[in-house]
Amino acid sequence: MPAFADNYIWMLHDGARAVVVDPGDAAPVLKALDRLHLELTAILVTHHHADHVGGVNALRPRLKGPVYGPAQERIPQPFMPLIEGDTIDVLGLHFAVIDVPGHTAGHIAYAQQGAVSQGLLFCGDTLFSAGCGRLFEGTAAQMHDSLSKLAALPGDMRVCCTHEYTLSNLRFAAAVEPGNTIRQAYQLRCEALRAQGQPTLPSSLDVELGINPFLRCDQAAVIAAAQQHGAEDTSPVAVLGALREWKNRF
Ligand code: ZN
Ligand code: FE
Repeated sequence: MPAFADNYIWMLHDGARAVVVDPGDAAPVLKALDRLHLELTAILVTHHHADHVGGVNALRPRLKGPVYGPAQERIPQPFMPLIEGDTIDVLGLHFAVIDVPGHTAGHIAYAQQGAVSQGLLFCGDTLFSAGCGRLFEGTAAQMHDSLSKLAALPGDMRVCCTHEYTLSNLRFAAAVEPGNTIRQAYQLRCEALRAQGQPTLPSSLDVELGINPFLRCDQAAVIAAAQQHGAEDTSPVAVLGALREWKNRF
């Protein structure tokens, strides 16, 4: 569900029980719980920023279960601290926790496990469609490592990002790789969706591998563009760092 100007709060439910991810605001969550007559059984948090945790305490009176969050960050207490290698079960779905530092120092992602097609990936502000999070607390090397972990997950995974930044990210991606025809087609699809007031998300990892410059730091065209914008060498970390700096000014 949309929140604030461009956040999304993801809600999963089975008709009776619900789980929400990164509730920056309680109001839209409470509205959805009431409208669909759902019991809130867990809250998943990816990182400590206010637009992801701001609604947690206001939801506690309605919560019949734990708040899960990154062990390395200050999340509204009490919560169940998670690190990479932990797994959680919500609504009968299994999620593995992955450490993805870069945007914040202790950022985690939740990747659905098991023999499912189109599993869910809740990646917070680490991976966006056609972009990645700003490096507020981490380094380009950390972000590259984190994005590489996500990129190695099954390609059909649904990428549930927490912001609708897709069109502005795609304008940047077009500057990096003007000749990428996969990105051109995807951009037209996303522009049509936004024109109808529809979200561009979830994306999929396969789509992102084809269009997201931050996942394509080993591609010749991306390397060349990054070198024109300050990359000191052709290593993926240098390329990602230069892209991120360029995007900050774009
Ligand atoms: Zn954030
Ligand atoms: Fe955010």
